[in-house]
Parts: sequence; structure tokens; C-alpha cells
Amino acid sequence: METLIVLDLDETLLYAVQNKLERDEDFKMGSYFIYKRPYLDHFLTLLARDFKLAIWSSADDVYVKQLVERIKPAHITFEFVWGRSRTTKKRKSVTDDYYFVKRLSKIKQKGFKLERTLIIDDTAEKSMLNYGNAVQVAEFTGDPVDDELLQLSNYLQTLKDAENVRIIEKRFWRNG
Ligand SMILES: [Mg+2]
Repeated sequence: METLIVLDLDETLLYAVQNKLERDEDFKMGSYFIYKRPYLDHFLTLLARDFKLAIWSSADDVYVKQLVERIKPAHITFEFVWGRSRTTKKRKSVTDDYYFVKRLSKIKQKGFKLERTLIIDDTAEKSMLNYGNAVQVAEFTGDPVDDELLQLSNYLQTLKDAENVRIIEKRFWRNG
């Protein structure tokens, strides 16, 4: 059974801004300038050989589907593409703001084994319920020499045969 990798979108795979950066965007969507994270195509193409891939973002569902259509290499199929409607809304007790968490029980309900599921996100609190499954990445805000996805694809390759990814310490993955 192949391990499932669930990928966040914003600040993990790409950066979407309403004010254009100093360099040209990769494409525009609505009023947003979209910058793909360096090595994105390589990352998805390489991982698709050994893993199942899915997208889960806490952004608006329609935005998520449209963006994924634009960044998906043609030969790749995602197991699912989920937006905000699949997340769970929580309230911060101190500030009263809301935030959205990704509950892995929803992935389990789809028939995936959590022992073989990894969730990649730049925001720790979105995965805080999924500690054993989470790999946290640095936030991407358009840096053209960012190489996080290159490093991450190398690291994830080392987990492809793990029977239980949850028992592997993943916090210090960059130093591996
Ligand atoms: Mg994010």
C-alpha cells in the first residue's frame, strides 16, 4: 500500500497575493498574482511515482479547485482536492479569531490508513491535532531561490516504505 501525502496549498506549494511582487507572477487568477514555489513540478512528478497525493487547503473550495487545475502536471491524479468545507472551524480563546483545522479522521473515513498518511503544512496549528502525521515546512512568500520542495522531496522519499510514519520523529527532518 502506498503512503498518502496530503499537501497544503497557500504558502506551502504557492504564494497568492493581490499586490504583485517585484518579479512577474507565474499566472493570474481573479485578482490574485500566483507564484509557484520553486521545484513544484519536479516535487509533484517525483512524489507521484512512489506515493498517493492529495490536496487539502483551508481556503475557499472554488479557489482551491481552480488553483489545483492550474498547477497540476497533466499526468498526475490527486486522490482528493479539499477546501475549507472539509476543515473544522475553531475559535482562539484569547483573541476570539477563528481558524481552521484539518481533522485526519476525515481522511480515515475515506479509507486511508493513518499509519500511512503524511500531512504537509506551513502552519503548525492546522496540523496540531495530527502531530504524528505532520511535516511542517517553512512558509513560502515568493522567494525565487527557495529550495524547500527540493529538500522535502528528498526527505519524503526516505519514508516511502515506512509501515507506520506516525512513530517516526519528523520535527528535525531538514537535518536528516
Ligand atoms: Mg498554508
